[in-house]
Amino acid sequence: MDLTFNDEEAAFRDELRAWLGANDAGPEPQGDEDAHYRWRRDWQRQLADARWAGVHWPSEFGGRSATLTQSAIFFEELGRSRAPLPADVLGLLLAGPTLMVWGTDAQKERLLPTILNAEEPWCQGFSEPDAGSDLAALKTRAVRDGDDWVVTGQKVWTSGAQFAKWCMLVARTDFETPKKHQGLTYFVLDMDQPGVIVRPLRQITGEAEFNELFLQEARIPDDAVVGGVGNGWKVAMTTLMNERSGLAFFLQVRLRNQLDKLIEEVAARGMLDGAGGNAIAQKLGDLHVKAEVIRLTAYRGLTAIERYGQPGPEGSLTKWMWSQANQELTQLAVDLLGDEALTADSPWSYELLRARGNSIEGGTTEVLKNIVAERVLGLPRMR
Ligand SMILES: Cc1cc2nc3c(=O)[nH]c(=O)nc-3n(C[C@H](O)[C@H](O)[C@H](O)COP(=O)(O)OP(=O)(O)OC[C@H]3O[C@@H](n4cnc5c(N)ncnc54)[C@H](O)[C@@H]3O)c2cc1C
Repeated sequence: MDLTFNDEEAAFRDELRAWLGANDAGPEPQGDEDAHYRWRRDWQRQLADARWAGVHWPSEFGGRSATLTQSAIFFEELGRSRAPLPADVLGLLLAGPTLMVWGTDAQKERLLPTILNAEEPWCQGFSEPDAGSDLAALKTRAVRDGDDWVVTGQKVWTSGAQFAKWCMLVARTDFETPKKHQGLTYFVLDMDQPGVIVRPLRQITGEAEFNELFLQEARIPDDAVVGGVGNGWKVAMTTLMNERSGLAFFLQVRLRNQLDKLIEEVAARGMLDGAGGNAIAQKLGDLHVKAEVIRLTAYRGLTAIERYGQPGPEGSLTKWMWSQANQELTQLAVDLLGDEALTADSPWSYELLRARGNSIEGGTTEVLKNIVAERVLGLPRMR
C-alpha cells in the first residue's frame, strides 16, 4: 500500500480543495427536514455545475472518470471541508453505477442525466419487514401483466422515499424456485403513481429519514427491468458493493472532525488540565488511534480493489470499526460535557441519538462480524 499521492492525484486534490475553499453549501437549516433536503439538493447542483457531483462516473456520463484513489480523495476532502453529502447520494453512488453495469442503453440515456443534478432523486427499496440482513427472503411480488409488471408488497426503512422519483426495487418474480436467491428481479419503479404509498417513520432523533413503502398493484413497464428477469440478486449485489466504497472515506473524516471538535471543547473547559486530565486524554487518545486505524484500513480496502478488481472483506471491518468508534465518541462527548450536551439544541445530543443506527444501517455489526470471521479469519461458516 502506497499512501503518497502521485502528481495527478495531488493535482486533483488541490483543484478540489481550491474549489471547496471558494464554494460552500451555506448555513445549515435547523429543524425543518424539507428545507434541509433542499439545502443538500442545492449543494449537489453546485457540485454538478462544476462537474464535482459524480467524479467516479465516466466522463461520457458527465463525471470525471476518477480513479478509486481520486474518488476517495473526493470524499475525504468533502468531509475535511465540513461540507454535507449531496442530497441524492443513493443515485450517485448506488443507482447510477448499477445502471452503468446492468442498464440498457435506453435506461442509461433516460435515467443517468437527471441523477447528477438531483433532478430526479432515488431511493433503495430492498429491505422488508421480514427481509433485512437476509435480503433473499424478500416477499414483494411482481407479476407480469401484458407489457407491465404489477407489484404488491411492503418495503421498510426506505431512506429518502418521500423525495424520490425513482426506486431501485428488488421483487420476487419466480415463486416456484426452491433457491430463494433465484427468482428475484431488479426494477426501476416510478414512485409517482397511486399504487405507491410512502409513510414516514419517525426516528429517535425526531426526524423521519426513512419510510415504510407500500406497493399496492404498482405498475412497472417491462423495459424498466434492470439486468434481466430472474437476475435481481446479482444486480442487487452490484448496488450493495458500491454502497460502502466511497462513503467509508467520508465517514472516517467526519469521525476525525467530530473528535477534533470534542478535543477543542474539552480543552476549552480546562478538562485536560490537572489530575483528572490524564484519564480524559487517554480516552480521547484511544479514539484518535481508532480513527487512524479506520483511515488506514479504508486505504487498504482501496488497494485490494485496485489489485483484485473487487472490494475485499476489509469494507466490513471498516464499517464495523467506524460504527463502534462513532458510538463511543458520541457517548464520551455526552459523558464529558454533561447535561449541556443533552439539551435539544446541542449538536451532541443529535449525534448521540443518530449514532444508534450506525450499527444497523448498511449491514448490522453482527452480520459484519460473521463476514470478518468467515472471510478474513477463515473460521467455519455458521450455516
Ligand atoms: C438509518 C437507516 C437507513 C436505512 N436505509 C435503507 C434504505 O434506504 N433501503 C433499504 O432497503 N434498507 C435500508 N435500511 C435497512 C437496513 O439495511 C437493515 O436495517 C439491515 O439490513 C438489517 O435488517 P433488519 O433491520 O431487517 O434486521 P434483521 O436482519 O432482522 O436483524 C435483526 C437482528 O438479528 C441480527 N442478525 C440477523 N442475521 C444474523 C446472522 N446471520 N448472524 C448474527 N446475527 C444476525 C442482526 O444483526 C440484528 O441485530 C436502513 C437502516 C437504517 C438503520
